[in-house]
Amino acid sequence: MVLRAISRRPVNQETIPQEVKPCCIQVFVTYDGLEGENQLDSYIFDLMETHDYENIFFCQEKTLGLKAIIAIHDTTLGPAAGGIRMWPYESEADAIKDVLRLARGMTYKCAAAGASYGGGKCVVIGDPKHDKETPYVVTVPEAWGGPSDGSQATAYGVVQGIRSCLKEVYGSPDLQGRTIALQGIGAVGTHTLKYLVEAGAIVTISDIDQERTRLVAAKYNTSIASTEEIHSLRVDVYCPCALGNVLNDQTIPELRCKIVCGSANNQLGDNLHGDLLHARGILYTPDYIVNAGGLLSNLDSLNPGGFNHQRAMEQVSRLYNSIENIIAISKEQNIPTYRAADILAEQRIASIRQLKSLASGNEKSREK
Ligand code: NAD
Repeated sequence: MVLRAISRRPVNQETIPQEVKPCCIQVFVTYDGLEGENQLDSYIFDLMETHDYENIFFCQEKTLGLKAIIAIHDTTLGPAAGGIRMWPYESEADAIKDVLRLARGMTYKCAAAGASYGGGKCVVIGDPKHDKETPYVVTVPEAWGGPSDGSQATAYGVVQGIRSCLKEVYGSPDLQGRTIALQGIGAVGTHTLKYLVEAGAIVTISDIDQERTRLVAAKYNTSIASTEEIHSLRVDVYCPCALGNVLNDQTIPELRCKIVCGSANNQLGDNLHGDLLHARGILYTPDYIVNAGGLLSNLDSLNPGGFNHQRAMEQVSRLYNSIENIIAISKEQNIPTYRAADILAEQRIASIRQLKSLASGNEKSREK
Protein backbone atom coordinates (compact mmCIF):
# COMPACT_ATOMS: atom_id res chain seq x y z
CA MET A 1 0.00 0.00 0.00
CA VAL A 2 2.82 2.37 0.87
CA LEU A 3 4.48 1.84 -2.48
CA ARG A 4 1.29 2.46 -4.31
CA ALA A 5 0.54 5.65 -2.42
CA ILE A 6 4.01 7.04 -3.06
CA SER A 7 3.85 6.31 -6.74
CA ARG A 8 0.93 8.70 -7.11
CA ARG A 9 3.25 11.68 -7.30
CA PRO A 10 6.03 12.38 -9.77
CA VAL A 11 9.21 10.81 -8.51
CA ASN A 12 11.71 13.10 -6.96
CA GLN A 13 14.10 11.44 -4.55
CA GLU A 14 14.29 14.52 -2.28
CA THR A 15 10.53 14.49 -1.69
CA ILE A 16 10.52 10.92 -0.47
CA PRO A 17 10.89 10.56 3.28
CA GLN A 18 14.22 8.95 4.21
CA GLU A 19 12.57 6.19 6.24
CA VAL A 20 10.68 4.78 3.26
CA LYS A 21 13.51 5.04 0.71
CA PRO A 22 14.47 1.36 0.80
CA CYS A 23 10.94 0.49 -0.27
CA CYS A 24 10.91 2.96 -3.10
CA ILE A 25 13.14 1.23 -5.58
CA GLN A 26 10.12 -0.09 -7.41
CA VAL A 27 8.78 3.42 -7.73
CA PHE A 28 11.94 5.22 -8.90
CA VAL A 29 12.28 3.12 -11.99
CA THR A 30 8.61 3.52 -12.72
CA TYR A 31 9.08 6.92 -14.19
CA ASP A 32 12.55 6.62 -15.59
CA GLY A 33 12.42 6.46 -19.37
CA LEU A 34 8.74 7.31 -19.59
CA GLU A 35 7.75 10.43 -21.49
CA GLY A 36 4.61 12.53 -21.72
CA GLU A 37 1.45 10.50 -21.60
CA ASN A 38 3.38 7.50 -20.33
CA GLN A 39 4.05 9.25 -17.03
CA LEU A 40 1.06 7.57 -15.46
CA ASP A 41 0.28 7.14 -11.82
CA SER A 42 1.14 3.69 -10.48
CA TYR A 43 2.58 2.66 -13.82
CA ILE A 44 4.20 -0.54 -12.57
CA PHE A 45 1.21 -1.67 -10.56
CA ASP A 46 -1.02 -1.02 -13.54
CA LEU A 47 1.26 -3.20 -15.65
CA MET A 48 1.37 -5.86 -12.95
CA GLU A 49 -2.40 -5.87 -12.54
CA THR A 50 -3.00 -6.29 -16.27
CA HIS A 51 -1.82 -9.89 -16.22
CA ASP A 52 -1.75 -10.45 -12.48
CA TYR A 53 2.01 -10.55 -11.84
CA GLU A 54 3.18 -11.63 -8.41
CA ASN A 55 6.51 -9.79 -7.97
CA ILE A 56 9.08 -7.63 -9.61
CA PHE A 57 12.57 -7.30 -8.10
CA PHE A 58 15.04 -4.62 -9.07
CA CYS A 59 18.69 -5.43 -8.51
CA GLN A 60 21.77 -3.23 -8.76
CA GLU A 61 25.42 -3.69 -7.87
CA LYS A 62 27.29 -0.52 -8.66
CA THR A 63 30.88 -1.87 -8.53
CA LEU A 64 29.92 -4.26 -11.35
CA GLY A 65 27.54 -1.82 -13.04
CA LEU A 66 24.87 -4.51 -12.78
CA LYS A 67 21.26 -3.49 -13.30
CA ALA A 68 18.81 -6.37 -13.48
CA ILE A 69 15.08 -6.89 -13.14
CA ILE A 70 13.45 -10.15 -12.14
CA ALA A 71 9.75 -10.65 -12.77
CA ILE A 72 7.73 -13.48 -11.26
CA HIS A 73 4.46 -13.90 -13.10
CA ASP A 74 2.66 -16.86 -11.58
CA THR A 75 3.75 -19.63 -9.22
CA THR A 76 0.49 -21.59 -8.99
CA LEU A 77 2.02 -24.63 -10.69
CA GLY A 78 5.38 -24.40 -8.92
CA PRO A 79 8.49 -22.20 -8.58
CA ALA A 80 8.97 -19.71 -11.38
CA ALA A 81 11.25 -20.97 -14.16
CA GLY A 82 12.86 -18.77 -16.76
CA GLY A 83 16.14 -17.69 -18.21
CA ILE A 84 18.18 -14.51 -18.27
CA ARG A 85 18.19 -12.06 -21.16
CA MET A 86 20.86 -9.38 -21.46
CA TRP A 87 19.94 -6.49 -23.74
CA PRO A 88 20.96 -2.82 -24.08
CA TYR A 89 17.41 -1.52 -23.49
CA GLU A 90 16.84 2.08 -24.54
CA SER A 91 15.02 2.80 -21.30
CA GLU A 92 14.25 1.11 -18.02
CA ALA A 93 10.58 1.17 -18.98
CA ASP A 94 11.43 -0.97 -22.05
CA ALA A 95 13.30 -3.41 -19.81
CA ILE A 96 10.34 -3.65 -17.43
CA LYS A 97 7.87 -4.27 -20.22
CA ASP A 98 10.13 -6.92 -21.73
CA VAL A 99 10.73 -8.80 -18.49
CA LEU A 100 7.01 -8.83 -17.74
CA ARG A 101 6.17 -10.09 -21.22
CA LEU A 102 8.83 -12.80 -21.08
CA ALA A 103 7.90 -13.93 -17.54
CA ARG A 104 4.26 -14.33 -18.55
CA GLY A 105 5.35 -16.25 -21.65
CA MET A 106 7.20 -18.67 -19.37
CA THR A 107 4.05 -19.26 -17.28
CA TYR A 108 2.13 -20.21 -20.41
CA LYS A 109 4.99 -22.28 -21.80
CA CYS A 110 5.39 -24.31 -18.59
CA ALA A 111 1.65 -24.71 -18.08
CA ALA A 112 0.80 -25.80 -21.63
CA ALA A 113 3.88 -28.03 -21.87
CA GLY A 114 2.85 -29.87 -18.70
CA ALA A 115 5.68 -28.70 -16.41
CA SER A 116 5.06 -28.19 -12.70
CA TYR A 117 6.68 -24.76 -12.75
CA GLY A 118 5.49 -21.21 -12.96
CA GLY A 119 6.84 -18.38 -15.06
CA GLY A 120 9.59 -15.88 -14.38
CA LYS A 121 12.36 -14.08 -16.19
CA CYS A 122 15.39 -11.95 -15.49
CA VAL A 123 16.60 -9.18 -17.77
CA VAL A 124 20.02 -7.65 -17.36
CA ILE A 125 20.44 -4.18 -18.79
CA GLY A 126 23.69 -4.41 -20.74
CA ASP A 127 25.23 -5.20 -24.06
CA PRO A 128 25.82 -8.93 -24.49
CA LYS A 129 28.62 -8.18 -26.97
CA HIS A 130 30.71 -6.55 -24.24
CA ASP A 131 29.24 -7.48 -20.88
CA LYS A 132 28.40 -11.17 -21.13
CA GLU A 133 31.83 -12.75 -20.62
CA THR A 134 32.25 -14.06 -17.09
CA PRO A 135 34.39 -16.81 -15.60
CA TYR A 136 31.90 -17.17 -12.72
CA VAL A 137 29.02 -18.90 -14.51
CA VAL A 138 29.36 -22.46 -15.76
CA THR A 139 26.98 -25.16 -16.91
CA VAL A 140 26.98 -28.18 -14.63
CA PRO A 141 27.95 -31.19 -16.79
CA GLU A 142 25.50 -34.04 -17.22
CA ALA A 143 27.78 -36.40 -15.28
CA TRP A 144 27.39 -34.10 -12.24
CA GLY A 145 23.61 -33.92 -12.49
CA GLY A 146 23.41 -31.03 -14.96
CA PRO A 147 21.13 -31.11 -18.02
CA SER A 148 22.11 -32.75 -21.28
CA ASP A 149 22.16 -31.12 -24.73
CA GLY A 150 18.97 -29.04 -24.76
CA SER A 151 18.75 -28.95 -28.55
CA GLN A 152 18.38 -32.73 -28.72
CA ALA A 153 15.49 -32.61 -26.25
CA THR A 154 13.96 -29.72 -28.21
CA ALA A 155 14.20 -31.78 -31.41
CA TYR A 156 12.62 -34.77 -29.69
CA GLY A 157 9.73 -32.55 -28.60
CA VAL A 158 9.29 -31.23 -32.14
CA VAL A 159 9.06 -34.78 -33.44
CA GLN A 160 6.38 -35.56 -30.82
CA GLY A 161 4.49 -32.49 -32.01
CA ILE A 162 4.71 -33.63 -35.63
CA ARG A 163 3.48 -37.11 -34.69
CA SER A 164 0.53 -35.64 -32.79
CA CYS A 165 -0.43 -33.51 -35.81
CA LEU A 166 -0.05 -36.46 -38.20
CA LYS A 167 -2.45 -38.45 -36.02
CA GLU A 168 -4.97 -35.62 -36.25
CA VAL A 169 -4.65 -35.04 -40.00
CA TYR A 170 -3.93 -38.54 -41.34
CA GLY A 171 -5.26 -40.76 -38.54
CA SER A 172 -1.84 -42.17 -37.60
CA PRO A 173 1.26 -40.68 -35.92
CA ASP A 174 3.50 -42.90 -38.03
CA LEU A 175 6.31 -40.96 -39.74
CA GLN A 176 7.06 -43.71 -42.24
CA GLY A 177 6.80 -42.28 -45.76
CA ARG A 178 5.63 -38.84 -44.59
CA THR A 179 7.13 -35.89 -46.45
CA ILE A 180 8.71 -33.09 -44.46
CA ALA A 181 10.34 -29.78 -45.44
CA LEU A 182 12.91 -28.93 -42.77
CA GLN A 183 14.10 -25.33 -42.69
CA GLY A 184 17.38 -24.89 -40.82
CA ILE A 185 19.83 -27.64 -39.95
CA GLY A 186 21.52 -26.07 -36.95
CA ALA A 187 21.54 -27.59 -33.48
CA VAL A 188 17.81 -28.46 -33.32
CA GLY A 189 17.32 -29.05 -37.07
CA THR A 190 20.06 -31.66 -37.28
CA HIS A 191 18.75 -33.66 -34.32
CA THR A 192 15.22 -33.37 -35.74
CA LEU A 193 16.44 -34.63 -39.11
CA LYS A 194 18.08 -37.65 -37.50
CA TYR A 195 14.89 -38.60 -35.60
CA LEU A 196 12.75 -38.11 -38.72
CA VAL A 197 14.99 -40.09 -41.06
CA GLU A 198 15.34 -42.92 -38.53
CA ALA A 199 11.53 -43.09 -38.35
CA GLY A 200 11.27 -43.41 -42.14
CA ALA A 201 10.20 -39.88 -43.12
CA ILE A 202 11.20 -38.39 -46.47
CA VAL A 203 12.88 -35.10 -45.62
CA THR A 204 13.97 -32.16 -47.75
CA ILE A 205 16.35 -29.75 -46.04
CA SER A 206 17.38 -26.15 -46.54
CA ASP A 207 19.89 -23.86 -44.83
CA ILE A 208 21.72 -20.65 -45.72
CA ASP A 209 24.97 -22.51 -44.95
CA GLN A 210 25.26 -24.35 -48.26
CA GLU A 211 28.41 -26.27 -47.48
CA ARG A 212 26.90 -27.67 -44.31
CA THR A 213 23.64 -28.42 -46.14
CA ARG A 214 25.52 -30.52 -48.69
CA LEU A 215 27.36 -32.46 -45.97
CA VAL A 216 24.22 -33.12 -43.92
CA ALA A 217 22.20 -34.07 -47.01
CA ALA A 218 24.86 -36.57 -48.02
CA LYS A 219 25.01 -38.05 -44.51
CA TYR A 220 21.22 -38.53 -44.22
CA ASN A 221 20.52 -39.10 -47.88
CA THR A 222 18.02 -36.25 -48.14
CA SER A 223 17.26 -33.81 -50.92
CA ILE A 224 17.94 -30.08 -50.74
CA ALA A 225 15.66 -27.12 -51.46
CA SER A 226 16.59 -23.47 -51.80
CA THR A 227 15.99 -21.18 -48.82
CA GLU A 228 13.43 -19.25 -50.90
CA GLU A 229 11.25 -22.27 -51.70
CA ILE A 230 11.49 -24.58 -48.67
CA HIS A 231 8.26 -23.30 -47.08
CA SER A 232 6.29 -23.70 -50.32
CA LEU A 233 7.09 -27.37 -51.05
CA ARG A 234 4.14 -29.73 -51.48
CA VAL A 235 4.71 -31.81 -48.33
CA ASP A 236 2.82 -33.17 -45.34
CA VAL A 237 4.76 -31.05 -42.84
CA TYR A 238 6.67 -27.79 -43.02
CA CYS A 239 9.11 -27.78 -40.08
CA PRO A 240 10.68 -24.35 -39.43
CA CYS A 241 13.83 -24.72 -37.29
CA ALA A 242 15.78 -21.65 -38.34
CA LEU A 243 14.38 -18.21 -37.61
CA GLY A 244 11.22 -16.35 -36.59
CA ASN A 245 8.55 -14.56 -38.64
CA VAL A 246 8.42 -17.32 -41.26
CA LEU A 247 4.60 -17.37 -41.26
CA ASN A 248 3.62 -14.02 -42.71
CA ASP A 249 1.57 -12.31 -45.43
CA GLN A 250 3.93 -13.46 -48.14
CA THR A 251 4.61 -17.08 -47.06
CA ILE A 252 1.18 -18.23 -45.84
CA PRO A 253 -0.51 -18.07 -49.28
CA GLU A 254 2.44 -20.04 -50.67
CA LEU A 255 2.24 -22.92 -48.17
CA ARG A 256 1.28 -26.28 -49.68
CA CYS A 257 1.52 -28.37 -46.52
CA LYS A 258 -1.15 -29.64 -44.14
CA ILE A 259 0.90 -29.10 -40.95
CA VAL A 260 3.38 -26.51 -39.67
CA CYS A 261 5.39 -27.77 -36.72
CA GLY A 262 8.93 -26.71 -35.86
CA SER A 263 11.19 -25.30 -33.17
CA ALA A 264 11.79 -21.76 -34.43
CA ASN A 265 10.70 -19.10 -31.96
CA ASN A 266 8.09 -16.50 -32.94
CA GLN A 267 7.09 -18.15 -36.21
CA LEU A 268 3.90 -16.12 -36.55
CA GLY A 269 4.59 -12.62 -37.84
CA ASP A 270 1.52 -11.63 -35.87
CA ASN A 271 -1.44 -13.40 -34.21
CA LEU A 272 -3.38 -12.51 -37.34
CA HIS A 273 -1.20 -15.02 -39.20
CA GLY A 274 -2.35 -17.72 -36.78
CA ASP A 275 -5.90 -16.82 -37.78
CA LEU A 276 -4.95 -17.03 -41.46
CA LEU A 277 -3.47 -20.51 -41.03
CA HIS A 278 -6.63 -21.62 -39.22
CA ALA A 279 -8.78 -20.19 -42.02
CA ARG A 280 -6.68 -22.07 -44.59
CA GLY A 281 -7.12 -25.34 -42.65
CA ILE A 282 -3.39 -25.70 -41.98
CA LEU A 283 -2.64 -27.23 -38.59
CA TYR A 284 -0.11 -25.02 -36.81
CA THR A 285 1.51 -26.11 -33.52
CA PRO A 286 2.27 -23.08 -31.34
CA ASP A 287 6.06 -22.78 -31.36
CA TYR A 288 6.52 -21.97 -27.70
CA ILE A 289 4.87 -25.26 -26.71
CA VAL A 290 6.38 -27.57 -29.27
CA ASN A 291 9.90 -26.22 -28.64
CA ALA A 292 9.63 -26.69 -24.85
CA GLY A 293 11.69 -29.93 -24.89
CA GLY A 294 14.95 -28.16 -24.02
CA LEU A 295 13.26 -26.33 -21.15
CA LEU A 296 11.66 -29.53 -19.80
CA SER A 297 15.00 -31.28 -20.00
CA ASN A 298 16.73 -28.42 -18.16
CA LEU A 299 14.06 -28.41 -15.47
CA ASP A 300 14.63 -32.09 -14.85
CA SER A 301 18.09 -31.28 -13.49
CA LEU A 302 16.37 -29.46 -10.60
CA ASN A 303 15.04 -32.77 -9.26
CA PRO A 304 16.76 -34.21 -6.19
CA GLY A 305 19.74 -36.17 -7.48
CA GLY A 306 19.98 -34.06 -10.62
CA PHE A 307 19.33 -34.85 -14.24
CA ASN A 308 17.97 -38.19 -15.35
CA HIS A 309 17.98 -38.61 -19.10
CA GLN A 310 15.20 -41.19 -19.32
CA ARG A 311 12.88 -39.26 -17.00
CA ALA A 312 13.56 -36.03 -18.90
CA MET A 313 12.80 -37.60 -22.28
CA GLU A 314 9.61 -39.15 -20.89
CA GLN A 315 8.51 -35.68 -19.81
CA VAL A 316 9.39 -34.30 -23.27
CA SER A 317 7.45 -37.11 -24.96
CA ARG A 318 4.29 -35.84 -23.21
CA LEU A 319 4.38 -32.86 -25.56
CA TYR A 320 2.54 -35.29 -27.85
CA ASN A 321 -0.44 -35.10 -25.46
CA SER A 322 -0.13 -31.36 -24.93
CA ILE A 323 -0.40 -30.78 -28.67
CA GLU A 324 -3.27 -33.29 -28.83
CA ASN A 325 -5.11 -31.29 -26.12
CA ILE A 326 -4.49 -28.01 -27.94
CA ILE A 327 -5.90 -29.47 -31.14
CA ALA A 328 -8.97 -30.72 -29.24
CA ILE A 329 -9.66 -27.26 -27.77
CA SER A 330 -9.09 -25.66 -31.17
CA LYS A 331 -11.62 -28.01 -32.76
CA GLU A 332 -14.20 -27.77 -29.98
CA GLN A 333 -14.18 -23.98 -29.95
CA ASN A 334 -13.29 -23.47 -33.61
CA ILE A 335 -10.39 -21.21 -32.71
CA PRO A 336 -6.81 -21.09 -33.99
CA THR A 337 -4.33 -23.30 -32.15
CA TYR A 338 -2.29 -20.38 -30.82
CA ARG A 339 -5.38 -19.26 -28.87
CA ALA A 340 -6.21 -22.83 -27.85
CA ALA A 341 -2.70 -23.11 -26.33
CA ASP A 342 -3.37 -20.11 -24.10
CA ILE A 343 -6.67 -21.64 -23.02
CA LEU A 344 -4.99 -24.95 -22.18
CA ALA A 345 -2.42 -23.11 -20.04
CA GLU A 346 -5.08 -21.01 -18.30
CA GLN A 347 -7.29 -24.06 -17.65
CA ARG A 348 -4.39 -25.93 -16.06
CA ILE A 349 -3.45 -23.00 -13.81
CA ALA A 350 -7.09 -22.42 -12.82
CA SER A 351 -7.65 -26.06 -11.89
CA ILE A 352 -4.49 -26.25 -9.75
CA ARG A 353 -5.38 -22.91 -8.12
CA GLN A 354 -8.82 -24.29 -7.27
CA LEU A 355 -7.34 -27.48 -5.82
CA LYS A 356 -4.90 -25.44 -3.75
CA SER A 357 -7.62 -23.19 -2.39
CA LEU A 358 -9.78 -26.24 -1.56
CA ALA A 359 -6.81 -27.82 0.22
CA SER A 360 -6.07 -24.65 2.20
CA GLY A 361 -9.79 -24.31 3.05
CA ASN A 362 -9.80 -27.87 4.42
CA GLU A 363 -6.61 -27.14 6.33
CA LYS A 364 -8.17 -24.05 7.94
CA SER A 365 -11.38 -25.86 8.91
CA ARG A 366 -9.29 -28.63 10.53
CA GLU A 367 -7.39 -25.98 12.52
CA LYS A 368 -10.64 -24.49 13.93
P1 NAD B 1 21.06 -22.69 -34.71
O1 NAD B 1 21.63 -21.32 -34.79
O2 NAD B 1 21.95 -23.79 -34.23
O3 NAD B 1 20.47 -23.12 -36.13
C1 NAD B 1 19.76 -22.27 -36.95
C2 NAD B 1 20.06 -22.68 -38.36
O4 NAD B 1 19.23 -21.95 -39.23
C3 NAD B 1 21.52 -22.38 -38.78
O5 NAD B 1 22.09 -23.54 -39.36
C4 NAD B 1 21.37 -21.25 -39.80
O6 NAD B 1 22.37 -21.28 -40.81
C5 NAD B 1 19.98 -21.55 -40.37
N1 NAD B 1 19.32 -20.43 -41.00
C6 NAD B 1 19.35 -19.13 -40.67
N2 NAD B 1 18.60 -18.41 -41.52
C7 NAD B 1 18.06 -19.30 -42.41
C8 NAD B 1 17.19 -19.18 -43.52
N3 NAD B 1 16.72 -18.01 -43.91
N4 NAD B 1 16.85 -20.30 -44.19
C9 NAD B 1 17.32 -21.50 -43.81
N5 NAD B 1 18.16 -21.67 -42.77
C10 NAD B 1 18.53 -20.58 -42.08
O7 NAD B 1 19.76 -22.57 -33.77
P2 NAD B 1 19.00 -23.76 -33.05
O8 NAD B 1 19.47 -23.87 -31.64
O9 NAD B 1 18.98 -24.96 -33.91
O10 NAD B 1 17.52 -23.15 -32.96
C11 NAD B 1 16.70 -23.07 -34.10
C12 NAD B 1 15.41 -22.33 -33.74
O11 NAD B 1 14.75 -23.00 -32.65
C13 NAD B 1 15.64 -20.90 -33.25
O12 NAD B 1 14.56 -20.10 -33.64
C14 NAD B 1 15.64 -21.04 -31.74
O13 NAD B 1 15.26 -19.84 -31.09
C15 NAD B 1 14.59 -22.11 -31.56
N6 NAD B 1 14.73 -22.86 -30.30
C16 NAD B 1 15.85 -23.57 -30.05
C17 NAD B 1 15.97 -24.28 -28.85
C18 NAD B 1 17.19 -25.09 -28.54
O14 NAD B 1 17.12 -25.98 -27.67
N7 NAD B 1 18.31 -24.87 -29.19
C19 NAD B 1 14.92 -24.26 -27.92
C20 NAD B 1 13.76 -23.53 -28.22
C21 NAD B 1 13.68 -22.83 -29.42
